[in-house]
Amino acid sequence: MTHDAIVIGAGAAGLFYAGIAGRRGMRVIVLDHAKKPAEKVRISGGGRCNFTNIHTAPDRFISNNPHFARSALSRYAPNDFLDLLRTHHITWHEKTLGQLFCDGRSDAIIQMLLDELAAGGGELRLSTPVGEVRAVDGGWEVSTPDGALTAPKLVIATGGLSIPKMGATGFAYELAERFGHTLVEPTAGLVPFTFEGADKADFASISGVAAPVVAQAGRSRFEEAMLFTHRGLSGPAMLQISSYWKPGEPIAIDLFTGTGGADRLKALKAEHPMKSLASAMEALLPRRLVELLRARGDIPDIPRLADASHKALDGVAAALSDWRLRPAGTEGWRTAEVTLGGIDTRGLSQKTMESRHAPGLHFIGECVDVTGWLGGYNFQWAWASAFAAAQAD
Ligand SMILES: Cc1cc2nc3c(=O)[nH]c(=O)nc-3n(C[C@H](O)[C@H](O)[C@H](O)COP(=O)(O)OP(=O)(O)OC[C@H]3O[C@@H](n4cnc5c(N)ncnc54)[C@H](O)[C@@H]3O)c2cc1C
Repeated sequence: MTHDAIVIGAGAAGLFYAGIAGRRGMRVIVLDHAKKPAEKVRISGGGRCNFTNIHTAPDRFISNNPHFARSALSRYAPNDFLDLLRTHHITWHEKTLGQLFCDGRSDAIIQMLLDELAAGGGELRLSTPVGEVRAVDGGWEVSTPDGALTAPKLVIATGGLSIPKMGATGFAYELAERFGHTLVEPTAGLVPFTFEGADKADFASISGVAAPVVAQAGRSRFEEAMLFTHRGLSGPAMLQISSYWKPGEPIAIDLFTGTGGADRLKALKAEHPMKSLASAMEALLPRRLVELLRARGDIPDIPRLADASHKALDGVAAALSDWRLRPAGTEGWRTAEVTLGGIDTRGLSQKTMESRHAPGLHFIGECVDVTGWLGGYNFQWAWASAFAAAQAD
């Protein structure tokens, strides 16, 4: 055998695996068809890589088997990654909601992954399209333009389908199916919503306006910012619920963020009895959003708040705390931050991420049916699943 482990995919999970396995004494080689490693790490978090979340817990991950991620997540926690950052003198800060970002550029994380790979004696081959993969006696053979490589372990870390422009492929899914795995249908997650017709024109007219909301799809609710765009709705609140949304369903938006809309409107009436409802509401919501809601009839024409009955204000509050919209769809793979679904976890060991169908074959990172919320959870899954696989003897 030429190596102890062959890793396909030099992204977050693949490089992290290689560093750990190398330090455990394994001869590891990482192959990637891209010219540069870990491009998604580079662009992540607006260039500062939101590399983990201190609130990591299994319930912040979506999977057909919600318990699957528990084992790996408990064995490699955010604090373990912070310890590693310290040894590389990388500093960070919490932005919001437990999201940790680099103080500097994301390149620091990529350099750390490459340094760890080198420290473990691992090899990285970029611009290397992977040819045939086959099971051979005692392991795996992978053909490359520079010849065949063999190892007892083959680790697939080629990620999901989001952002094909950056080299995403369905490689992991095709290989998994070839070796007897089933897939949970991959769909775009953490992705902006698109709208058609009047909604699209309305939202485009205030593109760039943002507001804090509580957004709900199905039973999942998130309190974060919503952003109007030329195509529809984006911002963290929308990205989060997009992972739970089913096509054709409405989404519900609470423009009062769950904080007693009726009482707030009545307080406005008491403070500004001579103002119109719309102009008074500019104290609560961005002016351009108020104008749009008024034009759409969601805020009724009440020229003097003094004349508004409490019943009328209750009605306005009820409508705006349950503003129902029906997205036409999402922006899809072009802009999705992650892939929901993927390799069915029933075919994998939760301890080592090893295939139950093909010994020595491991799947880690985003290609597995484990998808985190927005906010550093997906990298934490990449680190934790890679760590779990690297512990397998
Ligand atoms: C714009 C954007 C911003 C994001 N920001 C964050 C963030 O701040 N925090 C967070 O937690 N998550 C973020 N994510 C999600 C995160 O980037 C991914 O979940 C994570 O990179 C998955 O790691 P991975 O190693 O499984 O896959 P990837 O990092 O996607 O790596 C896969 C690698 O496999 C290679 N590859 C693919 N197909 C083949 C093939 N056929 N042959 C050879 N090589 C192949 C690719 O070139 C790539 O290098 C973001 C994603 C995007 C798109």
